[in-house]
Amino acid sequence: MRSLVSKIHLHIAASIITLGILAISAHILWDDYVDTWQDAENTSRNVLTVIARNLSNNVELLDLSLQGAAEGLRQVGFHQLPADFQYRMLFDRSAAAPFMGSLIVAAENGSLVADAGPVILPRDINVADAPYFIAHKQNSNLGLYISRPYRSKVSLGDFSIAFSRSLSHPDGRFAGVVMGSMSLSSIDSLLKELALGQHSAINLFRGDGILLTRYPFEESQINQDLGSASYVQHLLQNKSGTFDSVSPIDGVRRILSFQRLDKYPLVVTVALATDEVLANWKRKAFVLSTLTGALCLAVIGLTNLFQRELKRRTRAETKLRRIARTDDLTGLPNRRGFRETFEREWRQAIRSGASLSLLYIDVDYFKNFNDRYGHGEGDEVLQSIARALETNIRRPRDIAARHGGEEFAVVLPETDAGGARGIAENIRQAIAAIGIVHEGSPYQILTISIGVASARPLRRAEGTHLLEAADAALYRAKGSGRNAVHQWEDSTVPTLAH
Ligand code: GH3
Ligand code: MG
Ligand code: MG
Repeated sequence: MRSLVSKIHLHIAASIITLGILAISAHILWDDYVDTWQDAENTSRNVLTVIARNLSNNVELLDLSLQGAAEGLRQVGFHQLPADFQYRMLFDRSAAAPFMGSLIVAAENGSLVADAGPVILPRDINVADAPYFIAHKQNSNLGLYISRPYRSKVSLGDFSIAFSRSLSHPDGRFAGVVMGSMSLSSIDSLLKELALGQHSAINLFRGDGILLTRYPFEESQINQDLGSASYVQHLLQNKSGTFDSVSPIDGVRRILSFQRLDKYPLVVTVALATDEVLANWKRKAFVLSTLTGALCLAVIGLTNLFQRELKRRTRAETKLRRIARTDDLTGLPNRRGFRETFEREWRQAIRSGASLSLLYIDVDYFKNFNDRYGHGEGDEVLQSIARALETNIRRPRDIAARHGGEEFAVVLPETDAGGARGIAENIRQAIAAIGIVHEGSPYQILTISIGVASARPLRRAEGTHLLEAADAALYRAKGSGRNAVHQWEDSTVPTLAH
């Protein structure tokens, strides 16, 4: 019973330790995960802020150049000015726009009126079929128009984006277009400086979901209309934000921050690949969970070992206890076993107020028997008596013990004097009935004498009183001629009541 309790305690303790270890490492990992994720979000937002500001400034400078050229054309008497004055009036401001590819002015029929930029263009170029030209021609209130990426006629096949504004006659009629281009390679070189992880990506979307350019640059990916992709819709509908999703462009899962430029219909996104962001964390998680797992296994293993050892020891102890309380010859409890049982029953009888009876049994003329038939025969007789005692006590709590040499004791809990006397008489007769020849006895057979004592012990009564009473009764039985049962009936012991 006690070992079962300690076994359960052991398991509870092991479970608490194991759960504690698991909880601590889970907590550490979760904290670390949240930190890592927040760091990545902050990084992407910071990079985004830099790019958005830079891009916004460059587009603004480019737009100012366009407006400058448009104003120049509107000046009264512009066409009367000498060519170099005209040029200065048109393109003075464009020198300040570093991302400007080429800047052209086209007349209402699409033919080139003027150009500035790194290359001098042939005069027979016509841009009437360019999407930006068509867009302005159809809608005179477009303001700044941003084109899809295209392979430029005017800058040697590089991919560019056109920023354009329409020109108008004094009466408001369409008078042509002024257009500045920005090459994607110039944007690329800006983004390159901010290189993040290998699988990170920076996207530039037009307000309607056209992917204008992307870093790392991949020709097959740009110029797609992603306006219907749900994550693009999300970033087109909001001013700025951060979320994580799988890219519809290359299928990589990323933490993405996006921002719409204040003045222009452009959306910039900076996206860090979650695999890269979490790579360190995953390594740490692997190491920590391996260690944690090993630790938990060790706890469980040690608990099992400890428990097995405990069980082995308990079993050995139980066996030793039994051996220490058992008589070798008869297999009955020995004197020590008898005393323990008797004292336990004595206390129980005090508690319950029930009667407790005790028989002391001694073999008659046994010294003679040994002398005549030998010590070995004597031992066998003792064994027969032990068996006879066992068959004559029936209740589970009744105990027969070998009290010493050829003396036995029987403890009969909850048995009063009458019951005890009956049992004692049965035992006496059973031994005589075996009919062991004993020529050294006046009865010619082997007999026993029994002293019986019974009591309902009062509180604080000493058990030795009952032991002494049984002994005294046995002495009387011997005195009365042996082969007899004598019952103790004296009530001079104040703590014993019949
Ligand atoms: P009484 O009728 O007065 O009891 O006479 P008794 O000869 O039996 O006297 P007592 O009780 O003093 O005798 C004890 C004898 O019991 C001594 C010894 O020869 C014998 N005896 C004690 N222990 C053992 C034992 O383990 N084996 C055997 N064979 N004999 C034992
Ligand atoms: Mg004796
Ligand atoms: Mg004897």
